[in-house]
Amino acid sequence: NCPMVALIGRPNVGKSTLFNRITKSRKALVDPTPGVTRDRHYDRVTWDNKSFVLVDTGGIDDNPEDLLVGHIREQALAAIEEADIILFLMDGREGVTPADYEVVEILRRTRKPIFHVVNKIDSPKQEVELLAQFYELGIEKLWSLSAEHSFGFRDLMDGLSAII
Ligand code: GDP
Ligand code: MG
Repeated sequence: NCPMVALIGRPNVGKSTLFNRITKSRKALVDPTPGVTRDRHYDRVTWDNKSFVLVDTGGIDDNPEDLLVGHIREQALAAIEEADIILFLMDGREGVTPADYEVVEILRRTRKPIFHVVNKIDSPKQEVELLAQFYELGIEKLWSLSAEHSFGFRDLMDGLSAII
């Protein structure tokens, strides 16, 4: 009964960066077997005494074909099917894309908890400017994040662990 948390989103939005930040955030999570950690796309995470399995759905299979909306749709449907909680990442620097609209609509079909995360918001100053247009998606709660620089990271992790 360890919930599965799936990271979904277009290639290049920062899924793997977030995966690495989350899984490296606790020493105990570092796999002692040499060579094992690097290419892994799932890992068990404990945060605030809550445990979950984090899955990075993109990873080494990222390729230009994945840019097609059809692939993103499949990814979202699979996550709805298999995951318990979904972290849907978007790219704050690129702005809202048609694929984002489509995935948001697909994710409305499930009652599973969804975190709509706008990544690459590297400072509070950028938050004002970059986050605004994402409200067009009609999502009440947007989580702003810099997976690379950790802005918003603790809030997101606290929000996640609060529902586990
Ligand atoms: P993925 O394809 O969704 O797994 O994306 P990656 O994690 O591989 O990241 C794609 C690119 O975005 C890399 O060049 C990262 O360095 C960059 N990136 C990821 N997170 C951030 C962020 O929070 N801020 C900025 N500025 N760049 C980021
Ligand atoms: Mg990746």
